[in-house]
Amino acid sequence: MKKKISIIGAGLAGCEAAWQLANRGYEVILYEKKRILKNEIQKLDDFCELVCSNTFRSTILGNAVGCLKEEMKLLDSFVLNCALETSIPAGESLAVDREMFSSLVTSKLNKHKNIKIIDKEIDNISSEEITLISSGPLTGEKLKLSIQNLVGEEYFYFFDAISPTIDKASINFNKVFIKNRYEKGETQDYINCPMSKEEYLTFYNELIRAETFPLRLENEKTFRIFEGCMPIEIMAKRDINTMRYGPLKPIGLRNLDGSDNYAVVQLRQDNAALSAYNMVGFQTNLKIKEQQRVFKKIPGLENAIFVRYGQMHENNYINSPTLLNNRLQLKHNNNIFFAGQITGVEGYLESAASGLVTSLNIINWIEKKSPIIFPYDTVIGALIRYILLSNPQNFQPMKSNWHIVQTSFDPNIKYNKQERREEYYKNSMNSLNQFISKYNITMK
Ligand SMILES: Cc1cc2nc3c(=O)[nH]c(=O)nc-3n(C[C@H](O)[C@H](O)[C@H](O)COP(=O)(O)OP(=O)(O)OC[C@H]3O[C@@H](n4cnc5c(N)ncnc54)[C@H](O)[C@@H]3O)c2cc1C
Repeated sequence: MKKKISIIGAGLAGCEAAWQLANRGYEVILYEKKRILKNEIQKLDDFCELVCSNTFRSTILGNAVGCLKEEMKLLDSFVLNCALETSIPAGESLAVDREMFSSLVTSKLNKHKNIKIIDKEIDNISSEEITLISSGPLTGEKLKLSIQNLVGEEYFYFFDAISPTIDKASINFNKVFIKNRYEKGETQDYINCPMSKEEYLTFYNELIRAETFPLRLENEKTFRIFEGCMPIEIMAKRDINTMRYGPLKPIGLRNLDGSDNYAVVQLRQDNAALSAYNMVGFQTNLKIKEQQRVFKKIPGLENAIFVRYGQMHENNYINSPTLLNNRLQLKHNNNIFFAGQITGVEGYLESAASGLVTSLNIINWIEKKSPIIFPYDTVIGALIRYILLSNPQNFQPMKSNWHIVQTSFDPNIKYNKQERREEYYKNSMNSLNQFISKYNITMK
């Protein structure tokens, strides 16, 4: 048996890393606290819980997160393979039945001969053992202090938000229609609640006046919200039309008779049983009674029964550009590695990807080989580059997007948007394939 590695946190990053290390013959001790102590949004006992949306987002190849999926396939990602095995229809997104997904991940890890799972809340980090910290955006309180002591740096934290889920049986199907945007995809999966101008304005006026939960004052100095996960009421307050250019955009969602809408709220399947639907882009900090009152103004949701209400949450991450080297290893304590959202990547797949990168680097470090630096024209390489080389003064978590990917376009060709996206994807695949064979990153 090769060396032992302790992993703190069996989330998206920790599970991916555990599998990659164990499959390469390393002994893994995986510590997870959720069966003893859940945080306020965890519901399941199983690992790798998708706490909000049940999708790994787009599968479109011209979209950066769609490209990341293809990269993760080439790298034989454990998390992605489990997601594909438990997927449910969602147009051009990869959605999973969250319970089946977590159960599959947990049973595979449980059965692995090189992985030992320990249900325990880790509150102190041993600097003597090789340890991967992947405790996520809601790291346990004591561990947070221990990490703060260890890194000696200011800890950043702010709020993130989740959107409500509706019982399908409570939706008024006389008022809604089923369609994907532009009717893309083999099956039509989204439930759409169309709004006239008058209905939109009523909803807007109620929303901007609705009562929200108070924010924790001591955190407000560092209060920041991911643009991609902005509470709907904050978005509405920016401008009367902002929602119509965001989650309520009507484009590509004509009524079944071909007529246009002023705005459309979309609901996406949330479970395999098709009994629950998530309000797309409706992350919110409204008080519960206000969610019941205001969201019922949406046509089709007059009698909505909420399976889960929207909420806002704290999110923790370290200043990676200052603290980590290119193995995602603490510069001043080489036994400690980081992966997942705590490093400043954002999203389920991005967190799994960083778990994969860190695990390969732990092995190369143990085996005294050079760091594995993924090419910057791949999405996976660009994400790691982003968290390591961003300006530490203004470091914020990042999802997959083409803006961070470095690629060279032929200066003699005038690309349109679609062609540029195709070029990004093509370059990424070429580059990653070459990288895998050059560095002999064998898949197990
Ligand atoms: C409210 C909220 C909503 C979100 N919505 C989305 C979304 O819709 N889509 C998306 O892509 N991303 C979303 N995210 C981000 C998402 O949580 C992360 O991208 C992803 O789960 C991070 O993976 P991770 O492995 O870093 O952390 P996690 O998946 O959170 O895993 C960390 C694990 O560590 C465990 N742990 C923590 N402290 C300790 C300790 N002291 N001892 C032992 N175990 C510990 C936790 O119990 C947890 O299981 C959301 C995050 C939050 C907070």
